[in-house]
Amino acid sequence: LIEVQGLRKAFDGTEVLRDVSFAADEGTVTAVLGPSGSGKSTLLRSLNVLEQPDAGVVRIADASIDFATFDDLGKGEQKRELAALRGRSGMVFQSHHLFPHMTVLQNLTEGPVRVQGRPADEAEADAHRLLEQVGLGDRASAYPSQLSGGQQQRVGIARALALNPQVVLLDEPTSALDPELVGEVLAVVRDLAGEGWTLVIVTHEVRFARDVADQVLFLDGGVIAEQGGPAVLSDPQHERTRQFLRRVL
Ligand code: ATP
Ligand code: MG
Repeated sequence: LIEVQGLRKAFDGTEVLRDVSFAADEGTVTAVLGPSGSGKSTLLRSLNVLEQPDAGVVRIADASIDFATFDDLGKGEQKRELAALRGRSGMVFQSHHLFPHMTVLQNLTEGPVRVQGRPADEAEADAHRLLEQVGLGDRASAYPSQLSGGQQQRVGIARALALNPQVVLLDEPTSALDPELVGEVLAVVRDLAGEGWTLVIVTHEVRFARDVADQVLFLDGGVIAEQGGPAVLSDPQHERTRQFLRRVL
């Protein structure tokens, strides 16, 4: 479902992603681990084209862009390709980015109604269903400030799902939370995996990754230093991975 080939991205002449390639099947969980600054967020943001890669191909389902020949995001055909690729994935950030002046329900229906042009009643029915799914069925009319950090983050996840993406991208969805709130958010992510969603998750929760991931990518200095099934987290082949795991475990 996801195919990334030869992805490169530099900021001010410094290469942050250097020839990153991987693939993920539908219904699988890919966990991305690695030290701070290794390019994890840049990789995720490239999949959603929040960041425009310098080169490489990103394909999600039937939408694909070859960034080597993609120079102007603002023009005709390319604009359509860009919208198509962006529409295939939904992003969950480290901190939720909810609209503070809108209720939980409005946060969920805003994108589907305004961006995707879906009928409001249909979007609302979906939103209620998604809120049930993340355990917040009774908080639809609350404002974000009335929720705990973990609840807000679960709304963030529901909001990503509301856009009906093929792939959900999660960038350290629990790292801004107090320790006692981490579990409830991970439980929701685990649930999504069980339901067959295709997930790419950047996380420092090694145990969670080992439990839930089908594939682990260990990023170091902008390259995939180690890649494999969750077993690589128990028995890493490369010294850099070992060092990293010693630090975070
Ligand atoms: P962390 O674990 O701290 O979130 P990360 O692996 O997600 O780190 P990235 O955020 O992808 O790392 O950043 C990789 C490198 O790219 C860092 O050196 C960072 O400073 C740099 N970088 C990221 N975004 C930008 C930007 N918009 N402009 C300039 N440099 C950037
Ligand atoms: Mg990051």
